[in-house]
Amino acid sequence: MAADSGDTIFGKIIRKEIPSDFLYEDDQCIVIKDISPQAPVHLLVIPKKPIIGLSKADESDKQLLGHLLIVAKKVAASQGLDNGYRVVINDGSDGGQTVMHLHIHVLGKRQLVWPPG
Ligand code: 5GP
Repeated sequence: MAADSGDTIFGKIIRKEIPSDFLYEDDQCIVIKDISPQAPVHLLVIPKKPIIGLSKADESDKQLLGHLLIVAKKVAASQGLDNGYRVVINDGSDGGQTVMHLHIHVLGKRQLVWPPG
């Protein structure tokens, strides 16, 4: 069993306790716009299962993790990110994670630089 993130802002959004526009929803995840976008398109793909972060996922999450990436690429296409985009998972303190509920950032519609800050 993967570690549980308890309650975070994303848990409240998933449970619709805080109103938020879902760009996509299925039985396993939601997609919302980031409240503080770092690119013209900045989406968050968030599993409904409250996993703290990628480092806390385990073998039983294999299907879910694959599903999140497939949703990320579908929503990128539906948002018109035809020229490419970046997919990011921040993990833990050094990774710059601020919300302790696993999520995938999808950023696009501008030229992104490497290495990231
Ligand atoms: P992290 O730093 O954990 O990888 O990313 C957390 C992201 O969640 C940040 O980009 C932040 O702007 C976003 N965020 C935090 N609170 C909210 C919120 O209430 N609504 C939305 N849509 N995004 C949020």
